[in-house]
Amino acid sequence: MSAPESAPREEGIDAAAARAAEVAARHADAVDREGQLPDQALQSLRAEGLLGLLVPRRFGGPELPLRDVVNVCRRLSEGCAATGLIFAMHQSQSAVAIAHAGDSDWHGGLLARMAAEQLLVASATTEGATSGGIRTSACFLDQQGDGLHLHKAGAVISYAPAADVFLVSARRAEDAAPSDQRLVAVLREQIALTPHTPWNPLGMRGARTDRYDLAVRCGAEQVYAEPFSVHMSQTMLPTSHLLLGAVWFGIAVAALGRARNFLRHRNRGGAPLNPIANLRLAEGETLLQQMHHSLAACMALYEHPGRATGTERLVAFNTLKVGASELVVRITDIALRICGIQGYMEPGDFYLSRHIRDAHSAAVMVNDDRILGSLSTVVLAGPLDRDL
Ligand SMILES: Cc1cc2nc3c(=O)[nH]c(=O)nc-3n(C[C@H](O)[C@H](O)[C@H](O)COP(=O)(O)OP(=O)(O)OC[C@H]3O[C@@H](n4cnc5c(N)ncnc54)[C@H](O)[C@@H]3O)c2cc1C
Repeated sequence: MSAPESAPREEGIDAAAARAAEVAARHADAVDREGQLPDQALQSLRAEGLLGLLVPRRFGGPELPLRDVVNVCRRLSEGCAATGLIFAMHQSQSAVAIAHAGDSDWHGGLLARMAAEQLLVASATTEGATSGGIRTSACFLDQQGDGLHLHKAGAVISYAPAADVFLVSARRAEDAAPSDQRLVAVLREQIALTPHTPWNPLGMRGARTDRYDLAVRCGAEQVYAEPFSVHMSQTMLPTSHLLLGAVWFGIAVAALGRARNFLRHRNRGGAPLNPIANLRLAEGETLLQQMHHSLAACMALYEHPGRATGTERLVAFNTLKVGASELVVRITDIALRICGIQGYMEPGDFYLSRHIRDAHSAAVMVNDDRILGSLSTVVLAGPLDRDL
């Protein structure tokens, strides 16, 4: 793997992100059609030094704020949502690796490698036995004479063939309760992945999400000290909802952009004005604005957590997730109505099949009903603060 000559400086991020987004967009249709990883886009992200953006300066990274990384994520997703999804998941895993490294030499060394070698980090928090409920594990960390062993069956993992590092959740020990979980950072050479029958997914086909059995042997020092519940509430939940929110937002921006281009093309061609389609475009823009406001409010909350209670933050981030997954589907649908048959048929400049299929991953990727289920206890408990 070739390392970038240097990580991009802050003022160079825009240009680097634009180049990577252009590569991602150019290959998006082929990646979707063939269900292949976006290899060219991943190469570009590595070459531009964009994978290590969050890594602190003391470990050799540019230590960019999450806000900038979320913006890069949206740009990538406008051109190729599968690339955006990989980038989003990688960055939220990176955020965990950074925030919870503590004073561990091993985890500090991993961060230095993430910056220098632009390592790609994947997540293996799901498990066949617990389905989508990632707050419990069946598998466990098994300390033996020759190191730490871990066997996890039926984990759903995206971009596993391209990943250099896997953050894997498991019970702390064989006698630990299902919710007494730890996270361990595992290097590619320490993990054996046995794939189940490959999936032919509806959308996000370039993310190559598949089910695997994992066999890990690594050092005990690779286990993060804090419980997984701390990683989840402090880092993984807010960063993944913000970054994935940017992915859904990027899809919606791109779909409505195609609808706008369609109307402008039509108008330039001298077709009679279509006030209903124009109205739909404006309606789509109001929904895009809602997504933008929700993302912006949650970003502010992430940057200034003291402005809200823990419960309010939980409600806000979960609302972002559930709201964005509904809005992206509605906006892609509006774009389809505007473009009509030209949105329905490939090829062409206005077809929307990829955007519509990718949009539907949002509600499933951590099932919205599961999120609403946990929110319902908070809502039932009493009214939330309504002051602005
Ligand atoms: C594109 C994509 C990429 C993914 N990548 C990864 C990855 O890299 N790593 C990883 O670990 N996972 C990944 N996942 C898995 C993801 O995190 C979820 O675990 C998975 O999508 C949940 O699937 P599910 O809806 O079948 O399961 P569940 O969440 O178990 O839902 C199944 C059904 O049960 C209902 N349900 C279950 N429990 C509750 C509850 N408590 N309250 C209300 N309803 C409930 C749901 O509404 C749903 O109808 C990915 C998923 C997708 C779609």
